[in-house]
Amino acid sequence: MKTLFKNIKQLLQVRDSGVLKVSGAEMKELPSISNAWMLVEDDRIADFGSMNDAYTGDFDKAVDLNGKMLLPSWCDSHTHIVYAGNREQEFADRIKGLTYEEIANRGGGILNSAETLQKTSENELYEQSARRLEEVIGLGTGAVEIKSGYGLTEDAELKMLRVIRKLKKNYQLPVKATFLGAHAIPSEFKSEPKIYMDLVIEEILPEVARQELAEYIDIFCEKGYFSVEDTNRLLTEAKKLGLKPKIHVNQFHSIGGIKAAVDHGALSVDHLEVMTSEDLEILKNSQTIPVALPSCSLFLSIPYTPARDLIDAGLPLALATDFNPGSTPSGNMNLVISLACIKMKMTPEEAINAATINGAYAMELSEEVGSITRGKKANFIVTKEIPSYTFLPYAFGTNSIDSVYLNGKIWQHESAKSL
Ligand SMILES: [Zn+2]
Repeated sequence: MKTLFKNIKQLLQVRDSGVLKVSGAEMKELPSISNAWMLVEDDRIADFGSMNDAYTGDFDKAVDLNGKMLLPSWCDSHTHIVYAGNREQEFADRIKGLTYEEIANRGGGILNSAETLQKTSENELYEQSARRLEEVIGLGTGAVEIKSGYGLTEDAELKMLRVIRKLKKNYQLPVKATFLGAHAIPSEFKSEPKIYMDLVIEEILPEVARQELAEYIDIFCEKGYFSVEDTNRLLTEAKKLGLKPKIHVNQFHSIGGIKAAVDHGALSVDHLEVMTSEDLEILKNSQTIPVALPSCSLFLSIPYTPARDLIDAGLPLALATDFNPGSTPSGNMNLVISLACIKMKMTPEEAINAATINGAYAMELSEEVGSITRGKKANFIVTKEIPSYTFLPYAFGTNSIDSVYLNGKIWQHESAKSL
């Protein structure tokens, strides 16, 4: 099946194969073709070019985009889409003046989500999570990473990871799974956190690996959560079992987690709202990609990741949602790119690069998705008729998406529900 998309106002993020991420000044460039065509064959991008040099080969169907733009789907490399219930009560409490840490100390926060999740059946958890995944696909996300970490018992963590595996099987987008058993210390281990780390490392982690339920390992390396020592210990053991690190670090304090992550060859370090010049130097000498989560900063009213410092130091940067019930109840990558421009002073080109090719890199998927490249998966967004791509981050809160395609087919909610 060959489908020809023609009269594309602008075909964005056109790359040769081999570009797996863009760093520093390269992020300022968003290669594109004005007045373009693109040929999709089955589930792949087969070819593209300018309408001035029109496609003359055969095709089964033509779609006239007449003034609309086409860009690769968003690649959201950091989410917690699998969770049970919501935490709108804590949202209201925070409005009244309680801090995130105070809510956590009262048994709220991650522990509240864990308690709800432990009581929720696997089927119900799947149904709730599938609704959120469908919502984010509709918002243009075409590849996603999902973490465990709201279970905090062996049964509940494995339940979450099985739900992620089922989502991966039933939905037509690449899904990567991350084991985040070290997300918070359950209250019964509060006085002896080391015993919880022993449980995660000696019992749950080997079972996750044995059942091949996750590709990545994560830990919330932060004061009051897990120490650098815990991080080193977990990452060492996870590596032996073939799980690469992608870790939560420097959200509230810089305690040495970035060095630990880089020492263990982490694929990504995520959050980074608080960065020291030493942290920046460590990242400059690594292959680890920084990931910023600006909708979390918006929701918690905490500092934004210093994107300018990172990019101006020549580093790559990816953007992701952090979709989770406590600190970011939103999986909207369109809002993320707006916030990146408005609050982090990233240019529209940098934000789009960070949300596509660099997001794909942060999931080891940039050979498959993240750009308009011959041979890549045909996961893409068709915009409404908009004046320029700068309109996407500029018109924050406006839905500029006309349609989304996964594997070369237009995506509709119904197509997934029949599975
Ligand atoms: Zn997170």
